[in-house]
Amino acid sequence: MTRAVPVWAAALATLIGGCQSVTTTAPGAIGVERRQSMLVSEQQVEQSAAQAYTAELTKAREQKQLNTDAAQLQRVRTIANRLIAQAPVFRADAANWQWQVNVQTSKDVNAYCMPGGRIMVYSGLIEQLKLTDAELATVVGHEIAHALREHSREAVSRAYAQQVGLGALGALAGLGSGSMQLAGMITNVTFSLPRSRLQETEADRIGLELMARAGYDPQAALSLWRKMAQLKQSSGSDFLSTHPSDASRLDDLEKLMPRALPLYQAAPRPAS
Ligand SMILES: [Zn+2]
Repeated sequence: MTRAVPVWAAALATLIGGCQSVTTTAPGAIGVERRQSMLVSEQQVEQSAAQAYTAELTKAREQKQLNTDAAQLQRVRTIANRLIAQAPVFRADAANWQWQVNVQTSKDVNAYCMPGGRIMVYSGLIEQLKLTDAELATVVGHEIAHALREHSREAVSRAYAQQVGLGALGALAGLGSGSMQLAGMITNVTFSLPRSRLQETEADRIGLELMARAGYDPQAALSLWRKMAQLKQSSGSDFLSTHPSDASRLDDLEKLMPRALPLYQAAPRPAS
């Protein structure tokens, strides 16, 4: 006699069966190589990120905070586009992403790139830290790197796995209930959940290579993170709460300069 498989066991098997080990990016000159475990598909995350980003744009527009300073927007887009042009070094499909770059008027020191290349830079980041173009390229390059490495998809996958581990089968229901719940998780990962130290290191390294290849002096990464650290002591930063930092970040970046500087020296310079 064949016994019926309990629903929860079937759901668990589906989930585990859907677990993939993937390589999101090529190693680049800087050498980031780590396979990642994913429980949700790139397509699911992509659709949910589109929803989450559209919601942020709508909110900002309603509050008259979206792209209010034309000169600042142009500056951010010029820098971001130079970095985006280098993204295919790490993954060829990034050339076909629907990249978006916007600026939100806010005192908060923050910036993000949601999955699929949906970038937002807060004016407070630029103004409070008095960023040079190369320092701004550091932050945007770091954010682009998180998206290229699909760190949000990885974080969502981990959250699902933990829920299953705790026996909360609601997580499984969530996988099938459309993309609303996943969009909420993408928002949570973007604004609340701290990145892991490992993800931070990868974003720093890939971001450093992107900026160097785009013609921005990689040594500006050091001054940017020093400015961030000073700000943290004086007033706190939303950016640092989701992108935790410590002294090892500067050490790691300094060690990578011999690999990044030749790329910068060989790169065409941005018009100033
Ligand atoms: Zn980060």
